[in-house]
Amino acid sequence: MGKVYITTAIPYVNGVPHVGHAVDYLLADVCARYQKQLGNEVRFQAGTDEHGSKIWQKAKEQNIPVEEYVAANSKKFQDFISKLGVEYTDFVRTTDSDHQERVQKIWEKIKDHIYLAKYEGWYCSGCERFITDKEYEENNGVCPDHQKPYEKLEEENYYLKISDFKDQIRDAIESHKMLILPEFREKEILKLLEESPDVSISRPRSQLTWGIPVPGDDNQVMYVWMDALSNYITVLSYPDEDISNWWPAYAQFVGKDILRFHALIWPAILLALGLELPKTLSSHGMILANGQKMSKSIGNVIDPLEVLEKHGTEAFRYYFLRHVDTFADSDFTWEKFEDAYNNELANDLGNLVQRLSTMCKKNNFSLNHVPEIKLEKEYCDLMNEFRFKDAFDFAWEKVQAINKKIDDEKPWALAKEGNVEKLNQVLSGLVVNLLEVNELLKPFLPETSAKIAEIFTNEIMPPAEPLFPKK
Ligand SMILES: [Zn+2]
Repeated sequence: MGKVYITTAIPYVNGVPHVGHAVDYLLADVCARYQKQLGNEVRFQAGTDEHGSKIWQKAKEQNIPVEEYVAANSKKFQDFISKLGVEYTDFVRTTDSDHQERVQKIWEKIKDHIYLAKYEGWYCSGCERFITDKEYEENNGVCPDHQKPYEKLEEENYYLKISDFKDQIRDAIESHKMLILPEFREKEILKLLEESPDVSISRPRSQLTWGIPVPGDDNQVMYVWMDALSNYITVLSYPDEDISNWWPAYAQFVGKDILRFHALIWPAILLALGLELPKTLSSHGMILANGQKMSKSIGNVIDPLEVLEKHGTEAFRYYFLRHVDTFADSDFTWEKFEDAYNNELANDLGNLVQRLSTMCKKNNFSLNHVPEIKLEKEYCDLMNEFRFKDAFDFAWEKVQAINKKIDDEKPWALAKEGNVEKLNQVLSGLVVNLLEVNELLKPFLPETSAKIAEIFTNEIMPPAEPLFPKK
């Protein structure tokens, strides 16, 4: 049995969970459940990123202590993850005292690759981010996300010497020792790596009060990267404990918008610490509403909690794992969601379970023994390549094939003829097929899969209510 460590991005808690966060959690959860299915022991991190000026500002606007503000928002994410049926094992908050102490130790450990220098350039306070000259030119000096002119900034910061590690990072990416998914992003990242300057990892305390103090310099506070990215190892108790059981991570899931930080800055920190790089960085796309970017000003934001409330966890997982691409941008509309629910979940699967279990019960058919099920190679190949949507499609085609087989083999006609031997043979074949596909559905629809396994035990009992009532 192997040990597998899987991580999710930690959202910045200046807002509420949105559907993009859900995708990150669900992909990691499918990965984790599949690894458990293979018999591996899984550690699965989730967490919240809780420092920064914007958070400080928001708490101030609402007139509540910042600790209370971040605690309340972090709780919203924890509740949200639970509602998605995601089984994480560790939750890290960057305001945890353990985390803060460990990040300071990490800083001390990589001191040789950190230097103090003056920054003169552009900044967006909305993004809480330094802006390169190139970006400034491309956007004509105005932040496209905030419609605000970039501010001129002159201050002293600590820098991490990315330049010390460029060759090693390039080698790791090119050799796929650190695999970047989807593969077409690899080139993009390699190009960014060549252009990447050393990166600012602190700000003067006068500009940033809410953050982890830089050890040995009272005037400086850590700016996002060291604090947030280190969470993936501080949650494993690094550097207080040996983490070689779990690190390097098997897979780190991130949105495409933050892939570059995970593929450039994070490896530099790890290499400076003498740690291995994650085996895979898998990036996913954005969720669009009817082909458009979701935005508060357009008023087309889909509230994931509303979807969950109306249709439940399993239907949510179904849509976001099968109709949302594992890697590319995908669309959500209520119409598409409801079509998928009624035509696929309710018809293809719910109906099949109802129909087959009723036939078995009516004809007194029971399984002599529940066969041991091996996962098919084709499915495993897709799962091992992180092509989760394709693996789900593969499973779903099998669901549809069973429906077709029922129509072809017409067990009801055999029952009418009194051909008991053939009838039992046909029902047995169908039930075994369903149990086989049910195993493939397990990482995607864990609750449904458990229900189906319970219905089709030795004594087959139709469910009292359809698994997915039509809406
Ligand atoms: Zn901005």
